[in-house]
Amino acid sequence: MSTDIRHTTAQNLSSFIESIGEKKFRCAQIEEWLWKKGVRSFDEMSNLPVALREQLKSNFTFLTSGIAAMVQSKDGTAKFVFNLHDKRQVEGVLIPSDNRVTACISSQVGCPLKCAFCATGTMGFVRNLHSSEIFDQFLLMNKKSQELYNQNITNIVYMGMGEPLLNYESVIRSVQWITSPKGQGLSPSRITLSTVGIASGIKRLADDGFKPEIALSLHCADELKRRRLMPVTESQNFEMLQDALVYLHEKTGKRITIEYLMLKNWNDSLADAKKLFAFCRPFPVKINLIEYNATQSGFEKSNEETVREFIAFLESKNMIVNVRHSRGKDIDAACGQLVKKVK
Ligand code: SAH
Repeated sequence: MSTDIRHTTAQNLSSFIESIGEKKFRCAQIEEWLWKKGVRSFDEMSNLPVALREQLKSNFTFLTSGIAAMVQSKDGTAKFVFNLHDKRQVEGVLIPSDNRVTACISSQVGCPLKCAFCATGTMGFVRNLHSSEIFDQFLLMNKKSQELYNQNITNIVYMGMGEPLLNYESVIRSVQWITSPKGQGLSPSRITLSTVGIASGIKRLADDGFKPEIALSLHCADELKRRRLMPVTESQNFEMLQDALVYLHEKTGKRITIEYLMLKNWNDSLADAKKLFAFCRPFPVKINLIEYNATQSGFEKSNEETVREFIAFLESKNMIVNVRHSRGKDIDAACGQLVKKVK
């Protein structure tokens, strides 16, 4: 099988171009079409001679995704179902607000982690997305963002289906193409990668000098309780996780965002707030308390009064706390609601 043009290395492309007697500058032209102009076929590469386009076609594939469906919420949020080249599907979401449009993108088809509250986990894991499939979600939604909101995507969150740190290389490569001046040129500070907390992956981000923001889906600071909520805690225990976060902070100076889902009678007591404070002591954090969105899981969202007390405690310890309400709930586009529904 021939290699896909967006999966080949710059080195391979260059050897190919040389082997057919073409000039070196063709590589730069092709790369510009792929990453900056974001074309999705060889025929769109209009400054290449037709003969070269034909040679590219017979030597490389050009696999692309398409939009299978779009639903728009009454709050403006739009959810997309993408068809991948092998007929698998993933979802992405566009969230417009004041003067930004945030794109929520997926990193895997399904997810292996089975967090008790999340709908995606019920699908099981199908496969990792390739970096070009992650990049395509950006390209396709950016076009839709212009149509729907007259604006390009301004922010990206890797908070769709899947666990980005279990698909490390593809996620990093997609971030590079989205942020590079030779690609889409979005500032890394406008991107957030959200993870359940894979310790080795967090350390690797630190070593690789990862620029975007990092969010940890902690949701519970009692280790035994978190095991029941998020089984991944068994292999990624708190000691490993804290160690990785300290390392990340030391290497990059980053303040990590802690995501904390407020689940009624589960993780929302004052004792839980104290444990959260203790967990976060070794590194600087910002806490995002997330309102739970209904799924089939049977959890309920916390009462307002309970949430207020939880916040009051954290603030009394000088922690930065924000409350996040999800958008697009009426179309199952909110956090944790992304699942390919079997019809
Ligand atoms: N696997 C990564 C990326 C997915 S992000 C991670 O877990 O961080 C999706 C975010 O939505 C996570 O913080 C997840 O815990 C949260 N979430 C999952 N189910 C939810 C639900 N039912 N209501 C609100 N948030 C939910």
